[in-house]
Amino acid sequence: LTLGVPTEIMPGERRVAAIPETVKKMVAEGAKVIVEKGAGDGSYFADADYQAAGAVLVDKAQAVYDQSDIILKVKEPLMNNNTGKHEIEMMKKGQVLVTFIHPASPVNHEMVKAMSAKGIVAFTLDGVPRISRAQNMDALTSMSTVAGYKAVLLAANRLSKFMPMVGTAVGMIKPANVLVIGTGVAGLQAVATAKRMGAVVTAADIRPAAREQAQSLGAKILDLGIPDELAVAEGGYANRLSDEWLVKEREALKAAVADSDILVLTALIPGKIAPILITEDMVKSMRPGSAIVDVSIDQGGNCEMTDPGKVFELGGINIDGTKNIPGMMPTSSTWMFSHNIYNYVANLCQDGKVNINLEDEILAQSLVCKDCKLVHAGTLEAMN
Ligand code: NAD
Repeated sequence: LTLGVPTEIMPGERRVAAIPETVKKMVAEGAKVIVEKGAGDGSYFADADYQAAGAVLVDKAQAVYDQSDIILKVKEPLMNNNTGKHEIEMMKKGQVLVTFIHPASPVNHEMVKAMSAKGIVAFTLDGVPRISRAQNMDALTSMSTVAGYKAVLLAANRLSKFMPMVGTAVGMIKPANVLVIGTGVAGLQAVATAKRMGAVVTAADIRPAAREQAQSLGAKILDLGIPDELAVAEGGYANRLSDEWLVKEREALKAAVADSDILVLTALIPGKIAPILITEDMVKSMRPGSAIVDVSIDQGGNCEMTDPGKVFELGGINIDGTKNIPGMMPTSSTWMFSHNIYNYVANLCQDGKVNINLEDEILAQSLVCKDCKLVHAGTLEAMN
């Protein structure tokens, strides 16, 4: 079995799908691993270390695609503006691809159709279900962990004051108020990080389980007044609230928003557009010198003023809609991602061969296309 690791080509993307540590494990289990030279440079994993781990290094991405049974990547196949070749063109029929594809997103529909038409067997890591057995393959959770932590650092860096309480010769400086809205994976990490930095942290979520977890990390809980039966869907996930309830939620958030120095926004409904929880007026009610980080930006964001991919100031309030936060911490995100993908591939293969067992819900829910057929339920629904 040959596994291939090309360099990521998305501008600014510094992560890579395998590191020397995971290559060593794959090789020990009998796989051949081909790595494009320099693939680990962005996250500070050196070619020499890949080689020492048993990888075969090649000069060109095409050599990786030509020789591999499974291609391991971080981002979906893209057009390479340097070579003028799309990564799908570099792949071959029957080849397996494991990466983040985000196939349900309309911007990816043409790409996904092209992959399917070419007979590529594609698995998307954002399809891995949040079940116990899949925890060590759940790259989305790993990346949300990074995003929640880094969001607080980004905000703290732009804040015009101290985060912790600081005693000085001229008096005591009060700690900053941090409000985290949405305390799933990213939000809980934001709560923990802001607490460690000494801020006074308040958390809001519509799911009682998420509120309990935030409270156990030391956050004060803001009551949004949303009945549990409206908030929680089957499987414990959050429900999309009606417009009427969202108006009530914004009302419940108003005073806490006006009083916060940092706002971290991570509210999300799986597979849906993120709810708008912060209006322009609410932003304007904050003190100048405050900072907002809108982590849910890939789903449109929770603040109506966020500009996707941009950081800007509005009335002295910094609003951050950075899109690839995990890419800003490439060593940790790559370390987690590469272990997630290693575990995913270990589950996908048996006796040194790819074994697509669709009785396995992890594979079934993450399979995007196979045998020239598009099978991913969320994508088919989004296309109709
Ligand atoms: P998650 O599903 O674990 O958490 C989302 C939380 O939002 C849930 O606890 C849910 O109950 C809550 N929520 C839903 N509707 C709400 C509402 N109306 N009010 C309050 N809370 C509400 O998701 P996650 O893994 O923590 O991801 C959060 C977001 O972070 C996602 O949008 C994800 O795409 C994004 N993310 C962004 C980056 C980046 O680089 N910008 C990186 C990783 C993750």
